[in-house]
Amino acid sequence: MLKGKKAIVTGGTRGIGLAVVKTFLENGAEVAVCGSRKETADKAVESLKSQFQDRKIIPLYPDLSDAASVNAAFSEAEKLLGGLDILVNNAGLSARESLYDYNYESFKKVIDLNLNAVFVCSQAAAKIMKARGGGVILNTSSMVSKYGQPAGVAYPASKFAVNGLTLSLARELGRDNIRVNAVAPGVTNTDMMANVPKEILAPIVAQIPLGRIGEPEEVANAFLFLASDKASYITGVTLSVDGAART
Ligand code: NAD
Repeated sequence: MLKGKKAIVTGGTRGIGLAVVKTFLENGAEVAVCGSRKETADKAVESLKSQFQDRKIIPLYPDLSDAASVNAAFSEAEKLLGGLDILVNNAGLSARESLYDYNYESFKKVIDLNLNAVFVCSQAAAKIMKARGGGVILNTSSMVSKYGQPAGVAYPASKFAVNGLTLSLARELGRDNIRVNAVAPGVTNTDMMANVPKEILAPIVAQIPLGRIGEPEEVANAFLFLASDKASYITGVTLSVDGAART
């Protein structure tokens, strides 16, 4: 479905991002994997290269909140991969603090990564895509972007904003043949969830109509569809992949 396409995936070293990278590679893409540190990006790429020996896979580790750093990394990716067709803004940080204990610095940290970095990376990629005749930008939102959550307000606030940015950029960039969509996962089996205590998780799972949490590969399949030409007339949507959870 993505034969010959060139993609950048932020937060591609583990969890949902790594599943997206693998799914894209399985479907013929070549991928730049962004991690927060050189060591983690290099390690992920080394392991992927042993599974996909015929493919270009490159590590990147820009500071996602710094436009100069992101611009330089994305230009390098365009040069090394030979183009840029798809950006997946997936890197993210969750939050659980009560408002009464919330430290403003912690609030800003979540907004910086989950929202501001999506702006910075989308701008860098859109400039390249426009010059090349088009592309696809995909954002990882969350179920909490529709229902909120009862603590850690920076997280749902950032994801509500990601949905707004998705819809607005779809309207702005459509004329440049750039589609912009989001995927909103429900509770998904990654490290982010591994830190959630069982007593908090159990009642959440009990309210999921499909009776279980999602796997990263199930979320990645939604990204695959939206990145592919099969979704050529779809832009501005936030696609839920949540087992119909409403919590
Ligand atoms: P994860 O913690 O397993 O992975 C997070 C990724 O973000 C990692 O690759 C990490 O390197 C990267 N990252 C973290 N801090 C960074 C920083 N400062 N700079 C650059 N990269 C950084 O999490 P995950 O569960 O795979 O989450 C991926 C995305 O999915 C996030 O946007 C998250 O909000 C969203 N999401 C997750 C769930 C879930 O249940 N796991 C549900 C809904 C949405």
